[in-house]
Amino acid sequence: MKITDIQSFQPPTPGSPGDWRTQLGQIVVRVRTDAGMEGIGVGGGGAAAIHVIDTVLRDLLLGCDAGDVEALHRAMCEHTVFYGRKGLVVMAISGVDLALWDLRGKAAGVPVAKLLSGGCELLRPMPTYVTVFDDEEAEAAMAGGHGAIKLHVERFGDRPDPADIAELTKRTRDRLGGEKQIMIDAFGRWDVDTALRVADAVAPFNLAWLEEPLPPDDLAGYERLAATSPVPIAAGEHEYLAEGFRQLIDRRLLAVLQPDVNWCGGMTTLVEVYLLAEKANLRVCPHRGFEPFALHAICALDAQPLAESPRTWFNCLAGFPQIRDGMIHLQNAPGFGVSLQTPSQ
Ligand SMILES: [Mg+2]
Repeated sequence: MKITDIQSFQPPTPGSPGDWRTQLGQIVVRVRTDAGMEGIGVGGGGAAAIHVIDTVLRDLLLGCDAGDVEALHRAMCEHTVFYGRKGLVVMAISGVDLALWDLRGKAAGVPVAKLLSGGCELLRPMPTYVTVFDDEEAEAAMAGGHGAIKLHVERFGDRPDPADIAELTKRTRDRLGGEKQIMIDAFGRWDVDTALRVADAVAPFNLAWLEEPLPPDDLAGYERLAATSPVPIAAGEHEYLAEGFRQLIDRRLLAVLQPDVNWCGGMTTLVEVYLLAEKANLRVCPHRGFEPFALHAICALDAQPLAESPRTWFNCLAGFPQIRDGMIHLQNAPGFGVSLQTPSQ
């Protein structure tokens, strides 16, 4: 099955940023083959990533066998290595890689989850979590059946008073009781001392993790946190390719790794991260796991499945997994099971 065309576009979605200078500029990638099949993927990087696909990746892949996804992934990374080891170029590669995995599933007539699990029947329902802003929302989410909640604390600023976050966490813990999983997302903007002060302040409330307390490249800071934080540290939604994750894993900088399959290098990279993490006995909990791409890996590979809420404004695809009573269900459809809402695009 030879690749005959690769197209990408940035769907206009209500509420999405219109500018490419943000990781939120999600793109749809379509890979067509001489067998008449089409694979659909989603990457990031907006207009800049589309330019990389149109002027570099498309030329590289046209005429290649679509089935050798890992070799094509390697070729895309090697071809762009001097300007693309992290960020926009890898976000573009992610979209192409996911479209190739979609084709691989469609060619085999099975969901990607079944390819990843060695073919066994594994379309199990999975628990989910949502991000909330206060204890009242947290209680409502739990009443709706979600398995955990994550507190959004960006409003407390880059140098928050730990007492404010501890107070919110205590209120939430009091409402939910002792067993429910609670997390905090710091959005990568604190320094180590702030992160440690907050971690100490919230430690009594039994948090599952403190997410992205530091900017992604502050590995020395993460090393200090790994050694001293009383709360498990999670991060990785802004890390790229297996080599990036290998550093985090080999140095044991994180307790929970959070690759984003639509940014980090696609399904090929996410599978590599799961394998590396399994060997190191570390947990993986993919970023925005509700969405139909990462969810296949969570379903097939994850010992502690927990799917994070999606970007609700990204609504140009049909076939999103369904949530019932807080549990998310993959559909038994070939590939990732998605299609374009507007086939004319
Ligand atoms: Mg986050």
